[in-house]
Amino acid sequence: MKLKSYPAIVLSVEPVSEIDLKVEFLTPVGRVLAVAKGGRKSKRRFLNLFSEINILRVNLRKSSRTIFPIIDSADLIYQVKSPWFERQKFEFFSCLAELLSYLGKGLLEEGSFSFWVSFIKVADANPISEKLLFLLELKILKHLGYAPMVDECVKCGNIPKRIFYFSVEQGGILCLNCRDDRTLPLSSAEVECLKNYLLLKDPKGVFELSSPSSKLLRLVRQFLIYYLGLDYKAPCQGL
Ligand SMILES: [Zn+2]
Repeated sequence: MKLKSYPAIVLSVEPVSEIDLKVEFLTPVGRVLAVAKGGRKSKRRFLNLFSEINILRVNLRKSSRTIFPIIDSADLIYQVKSPWFERQKFEFFSCLAELLSYLGKGLLEEGSFSFWVSFIKVADANPISEKLLFLLELKILKHLGYAPMVDECVKCGNIPKRIFYFSVEQGGILCLNCRDDRTLPLSSAEVECLKNYLLLKDPKGVFELSSPSSKLLRLVRQFLIYYLGLDYKAPCQGL
């Protein structure tokens, strides 16, 4: 019997029968659904393993009798703890799980799985701040392939020198000539801030970046809602 082994982030868990659980994971190869046989009954075998956002190593085996692979065994790599004690963290991590499940529908960009593993640890160990929320939303957009274009005007390709305009519908910044009445002006510091967050490789570095302005926070959130078309409810509003 061939086993497949993956590092995996737990996204959701639901009962599928009297005794089994269906678990949704994000892995480096995308989203994986698998069944924990006896997962509802045998508390000892899978104790606390399948809490949302836990990071595991899972060994999966194919079965001819089920559509989904079966979880042969799983080891805990990292257990998130802060959501147990803080409502705000609980909200934040629920939202993270929802957003990561969008990510898993496509092929994962190289390095994006390890980014989220590291992001989870940083978010677990630190208070939720505007910087973390902004990084979460922007990086989800980026890894989905919907990052706002910030290097040149989305319409004409010119690089604005001093005055920038931003359009959610057009997907990024516009120059003075291409702006329309739905664009909002951005300062060069705000454009720089967007770039820095988009380029950040190691989530630990987020605390050294400047805080996003409230305008940027609002724009990126609108962007996410516009491109994902979901009933996205941002966590920790009015932080
Ligand atoms: Zn232009």
